[in-house]
This record gives sequence, C-alpha cells and structure tokens, in this order.
Amino acid sequence: MRKKIVAGNWKMNKTFTEAEELITEIADSLDEMELVNTTVVLCPPAPYLELATDIAQDAAFKVGAQNVYSCDSGAFTGEISPMMLKALEVDYCIVGHSERRKYFNETNLFLAGKVDALLKQEIIPIFCCGEILSERESGLYFGVVRKQLEESAFHLSSGEFKKLVIAYEPVWAIGTGVNASPEQAQEMHAFIRGLICEKYGEPLAKDISILYGGSCNAQNARELFSQPDVDGGLIGGASLKSAEFIQIVLSF
Ligand code: PEP
Repeated sequence: MRKKIVAGNWKMNKTFTEAEELITEIADSLDEMELVNTTVVLCPPAPYLELATDIAQDAAFKVGAQNVYSCDSGAFTGEISPMMLKALEVDYCIVGHSERRKYFNETNLFLAGKVDALLKQEIIPIFCCGEILSERESGLYFGVVRKQLEESAFHLSSGEFKKLVIAYEPVWAIGTGVNASPEQAQEMHAFIRGLICEKYGEPLAKDISILYGGSCNAQNARELFSQPDVDGGLIGGASLKSAEFIQIVLSF
C-alpha cells in the first residue's frame, strides 16, 4: 500500500524561537495521535534542520530540506550538499519547487542532477512538477508536466525511481488561495501515475506517492485527499500554524 504523506514547506519563514515552538507543538500533537500509514514531513529553512532532526529523534515526524546542490563538496559558495544533509539526518528534500524554478532559474536538467545526488545519499527527493497559469489556460498542462518528469526523473532506473515522492503543484495555485479543484488534481495525478506506469510498469506506479500542493488548507484537504490518486499534500502557508497543519494531517 502506498504511503500517505503530508509535508510542510515552511519556505523562508520563522525565527529560530518560532521554529522551535512550531516543531515542538507539532511533535506534541503527533504524540497523541495514532497515524496509520501516514508520514508527516517538516521542511523548515536550512538553519533549523539540525533543531528539527534533534526533536524528530523522539517524535513521529520526518525532516526534509527545501533545497540542495548536486555536488558533494567544492567551490560552490552558499550551497548545501546532499552529504551535509545526510550528516544532519535529513530524510527528504524538496526538488524542483516552482519558486526555485522561477527565481533561481532551475531547469529540468539541473534538477535531474539534484535528484541523482540525493538518491546517492539515500535522501528521498520530493520532486515538484506543475504548470503555470498560461499553460493551464492554453491546455498545455499535461505536456509541461510530462516534460518535467521526463527530463528530471525518467533517466532513473526503476530501483531508483521507486524511492521518489512526486508533488503535483500547479503554479497558479501556490500561495494564491485558489486551489486546484479535486477533479483537476485527480485528473493530473492520474495522468502522472499513467506516465509512470508506461515507463516503469504498473506495480511501481501503484506504489508511488503523489502529493498535491497549492493552497491546500484545513478546509479543502479532506476533499482533495479523498481523490483516488492523491496521496497527501505538500503544504506551504497552512503548514506554518500547528493547529491547521495537524487538521490537514487528519484529513485522510
Ligand atoms: C508550496 O509552496 O509548496 C505550496 C503548496 O504553498 P501554498 O500551500 O502556500 O500554496
């Protein structure tokens, strides 16, 4: 049975004290819950990863980074390597978020290198794909997502690919308050699973978790997560408050 996952992408938010508070609140709430087949992942900013992995040792959540560079070490000022994340006991890493694609010009090919580097360290990439509004409106969205997957992930062997988590994040829904409808999400998730099936076969496609991201919150999570091919969410804004985030975790 494929995993249900709720991952919180904090983006560039929270002071150290606020981060400690939020992680502790979430850890305490999770302590009182009995989650079955559901993994919670917190992705705080890089300076708080060690704090998060320390708390995670005695808690029911995993820790993800928001970014990584594709080399193990070297003259790459400001970058963080997969080896460094591994040393911090980070389990997941977001790759290909639309904000990285847009503001840092990360291309599909560049992202393929990050996916490879993470897998080498046994860190699970949460690979984000999704179309911008004009691509949705002109009906190009399936082609865009297909290309993102083909160019960044379909070079992997099946043994490698099966370790990935995919996040479908329509860019027009991120941080806008306008989520994809459950039908739109399901349509794309089924399409993505179909592509994976064509490339790697049905057993693997059935086993891959595909998360939805884009203005997912405590109000709409239940309906989105009830779609047959939606296996959870990558949550931005709504992951910054413990009560709302926990509500989302309880939405399966
Ligand atoms: C995100 O940044 O991955 C995201 C889904 O953001 P939001 O939930 O705020 O739309």
